[in-house]
Amino acid sequence: MSAWPRSQELFRRAQRVTPGGVNSPARAFGAVGGHPLFIARGEGPFLYDVDGHRYLDYVLSWGPMILGHAHPEVLEAIREAASRGTSYGAPTEAEITLAELIIEAFPSIEKVRLVNSGTEATLSALRLARGYTGRDKIVKFAGNYHGHVDSLLVAAGSSAATLGVPTSPGVTAGTAQDTIVLPYNDTAAVEEVFRTQGEEIAAVIVEPIAGNMGCVPGSAEFLRTLREKTREYGALLIFDEVMTGFRVAYGGAQELLGIRPDLTTLGKIIGGGLPVGAYGGPAAIMDHILPVGKVFQAGTLSGNPLATAAGITTLRILRETNPYPQLAARTQQLAEGLLQAAASACVPCQVAFVPGMLTIFFSERPVTDWETAAACDTKRFAQFFWRMMERGIYLPCSQYEAMFLSVLHSEELIEQTIAAARLALAGL
Ligand SMILES: *Cc1c(COP(=O)(O)O)cnc(C)c1O
Repeated sequence: MSAWPRSQELFRRAQRVTPGGVNSPARAFGAVGGHPLFIARGEGPFLYDVDGHRYLDYVLSWGPMILGHAHPEVLEAIREAASRGTSYGAPTEAEITLAELIIEAFPSIEKVRLVNSGTEATLSALRLARGYTGRDKIVKFAGNYHGHVDSLLVAAGSSAATLGVPTSPGVTAGTAQDTIVLPYNDTAAVEEVFRTQGEEIAAVIVEPIAGNMGCVPGSAEFLRTLREKTREYGALLIFDEVMTGFRVAYGGAQELLGIRPDLTTLGKIIGGGLPVGAYGGPAAIMDHILPVGKVFQAGTLSGNPLATAAGITTLRILRETNPYPQLAARTQQLAEGLLQAAASACVPCQVAFVPGMLTIFFSERPVTDWETAAACDTKRFAQFFWRMMERGIYLPCSQYEAMFLSVLHSEELIEQTIAAARLALAGL
C-alpha cells in the first residue's frame, strides 16, 4: 500500500483533465518516477501533503517563498489589498512602490515594467532588445532556461532536459534560426561568435548564476567577456535574474558579481508567491516601449494589486532584515554536511552552491556547463530523492533543478537534513 493513497487518487483524477496531470511539467516527477505529491498547505519552511505528511521544503515554489510559506505579514497585505478589489486595469500607487523598491535594489535599472511571469519578462526584454538595436539574433547558453519563450526553447535546461526534448515541437525553424546557442562558461565560444556575427546580434541573454541545470555559477571571466563583447559590438546584455534576483543577494547576482547588465529580468521573489515578472534597465532603453516608444508590450493584469502587495511586503522585509549573510551561512552548512555525508557513504558527488541555492550533482566531475551536467547519474539522484522524501525532506524532483533555502531554514533544520542525507546516501 502506497504511503500516498490520496495523492495517487488525485493524480489519477488530474490526468483525466490536464495533460500529464500537472499545470507545469517541472512538477510531474517524470525524472524520479512515481507520481507527484499533492499539497494541502504550506507553513513556514514546511509543506503538508494531502496524505497528512509534513516535509521540510527545499523547493519553495521553485524559489519565490524566501520568507517561508504563509508569512503572516505577506498574507495580511494580500488580504488588505483584496478587500479593496483585485484588479482595476488602471494605475495604482502600489505599482510605483514596487518599481521604486526594484530600482533601489538594482543600480542598473532606472525604469521597470511589471508583467505576470518570468516568461513574459524575458520575451518582452528580447523584443525590446531587438526593437532597440534593429537586429534579429539572440545568443543564449545551453542549459539556461528563460521561460517557455519560443525563441529561447533551444537547449533549455531543467524541464526541457528532464523530458528529453531540448527543442520543443511547435517552435518553427525560422524562430530557432535567430537563436545562437553556445556552451555555458565558454569564453572562447563567445569571442568567436562576436568576431563572426557580432554586428547581427541584438542581445545575449544569460543566467549569471544558472539555476536551471542545477546550480552552476557563471565564471567571472565568462561574465566579464559577455559584458565587454556586447558593449564592443553594440548588443545588449540581458541578465535573467528571475531566479537569482533578491535571492543570492538583495541586488541579485549582479550585486554579488559586480557586473552591470543592460537589461534585467525578474520574477519569482518579487511577487511574494503571486504571479509576477518584471524587466528593467536604463531609461534610454526602456523608453523604447509603448506608450513612449514603439515596441509593443501590454498586459490586462500586469501590476495587479494582489501581486504588488505581496511583492512589496516581501521586498520590504528582506530589505529591513537583511537575511543574506544568514542564508549564505546556512547554505554553506548544508553544502559541507552533504559533502561529508556523501564522502562517508563513498558516493561520488559535487555540491555547487551560492547563497540560498544549492545542488548535489551525482558526478565525479565538476559541473560547469550543460555537457558536464548531463553526465550526472540521474538514476542515483532519483533514488536519493525518494529516500529523502521518505524522511520528510522535499527536494526538487530533478537533478537539474536547484534546491532553495528560506530564511526559516534554521541551523537545526539543516542539521536534520544532513542527518537524513547521511541515511539516504548510505548504500546508494
Ligand atoms: C523560473 C524562471 C523563468 C520563468 O519564469 P516563469 O514565471 O515560470 O515564467 C525564467 N528565467 C529563469 C532564470 C527562471 O528561473
